[in-house]
Amino acid sequence: MAYPKLPDVLPPPNSPEYVALAREMAVKTGAAKDAPRTYFIAERRKAERKYQRLIRNLLKKAEDEVAKLADPTPDAIIRILTQIASSPTFQHMAEEAARQTVTMLAVGMKRSWRAAAAASSQGRLIYQALMKETTGTALGQSISAIVAENSKLIVTCPHDMALRFSKLARQREFEGVRPDEITKEIMKEAKHLREFEARRIARTESAKASTALVQSRAESLGLDFYIWRTAHDSRVRPQHGSMDGVICRWSDPPDPESMAGERSYGRYHPGGIFNCRCIALPVIALEDINFPAKVHVSGHIETISSLAKFKERFGIAA
Ligand SMILES: [Zn+2]
Repeated sequence: MAYPKLPDVLPPPNSPEYVALAREMAVKTGAAKDAPRTYFIAERRKAERKYQRLIRNLLKKAEDEVAKLADPTPDAIIRILTQIASSPTFQHMAEEAARQTVTMLAVGMKRSWRAAAAASSQGRLIYQALMKETTGTALGQSISAIVAENSKLIVTCPHDMALRFSKLARQREFEGVRPDEITKEIMKEAKHLREFEARRIARTESAKASTALVQSRAESLGLDFYIWRTAHDSRVRPQHGSMDGVICRWSDPPDPESMAGERSYGRYHPGGIFNCRCIALPVIALEDINFPAKVHVSGHIETISSLAKFKERFGIAA
């Protein structure tokens, strides 16, 4: 499904321009109350695409180094890939790619929060808090942690390629394949791996990062609940399909696989597992929840019929 293109600067919430835009997006996505979800997903996808491009370019640079070899024997290729992975320049470029993407995502997420605030009955308070915030330390810390983890992942790529190619070369040598044929095979494989890794890292990491950014902001605003939302398409895993619309707490991550009676991957928030494109949509005010609501509580999904019962269930003062 194609999401409507977002303007770079969102009109202020509750302004006529904003309402018109939200309505247009709601019509395009088929659900009037779905506008905030659309914003969060669109920003994540934007970051994912940018990140994929950056990683691909970076790995292409490693390939270019290989192409410059005067005598590209399999051994020489493996050696240069290992050198690239441990070179400070490459590590620095990997960190820059991660930082650029996460910074862009953080800005996008802030925009999405404004959209969520605009759709909330109690949005005014959150909106003011969002406006006041200048340099949230919690947010800064979570950005640094994401950048560090991601640059490590990118740097690992050429290293993994080297290992893989050395196995491949040995096997082909054993089979009596000529070195120049092995080199050709390695170069073909390198191209394939570059695309595969760029897509895998960009997708998995942009989802993980967007949830981490939402969580860090939610916690700083004192918001405990979020709604698990899927990308609403045919590629959503069934275990996550049954989480769509379920209200969860940051302090109590669900285990979607074991709830579906399958092998567990542990407890995690949306985006917390490979290839997951789900998002966590913050619940800004309990009054915004539609009852009856499906709610995750320590490994089970309960249906709660009213706001009063919801507050009672979680020990929230009426
Ligand atoms: Zn998912």
